[in-house]
Amino acid sequence: MRTEAHPTTNREIANVLDQAQSICAEHGVRLTEKRRRVLQVVLESSEPLSAYQIADQYRDQHGQTLSVMSVYRMLNFLKDNELVHRLETTNQYLPCSHITCKHDHEVPQFLICDQCHGVDEVGIRKEILNELSANIEDTGFTLARQQIEFHGICSACRQTRA
Ligand SMILES: [Zn+2]
Ligand SMILES: [Zn+2]
Ligand SMILES: [Zn+2]
Repeated sequence: MRTEAHPTTNREIANVLDQAQSICAEHGVRLTEKRRRVLQVVLESSEPLSAYQIADQYRDQHGQTLSVMSVYRMLNFLKDNELVHRLETTNQYLPCSHITCKHDHEVPQFLICDQCHGVDEVGIRKEILNELSANIEDTGFTLARQQIEFHGICSACRQTRA
């Protein structure tokens, strides 16, 4: 299991946005200016954001007010195109870390650092997930989703602690 580096410089973020634009074009949908700006807000954050936080930052950066409803609509669009993911336990959004990758997207799982609130996206092999789901369903429980969100301390925070 490994994680991808997060884009941090303006140039890296611009590159990811351009790639997102091509992905949408391939899907036959349009990454409008507003959707692109919402994705940019999500990309520029070092931690996952709620729709309210995104609306606030959008207003600060672009001097334009978006209703939280329209932020949700744009986030759903970005999510359907696998450009962002939603943390189900906290209802926050983070960018997909594989936007510029060529490989297939695995079922994403998340490692959430309780200290810096950074999140890493990890792919877990389908067989492991299927086995886990089968074990859970053996108890009579019906799973609605297969997304796992692990909490802990990231390696950067662990090093600064030591
Ligand atoms: Zn992803
Ligand atoms: Zn990747
Ligand atoms: Zn951390």
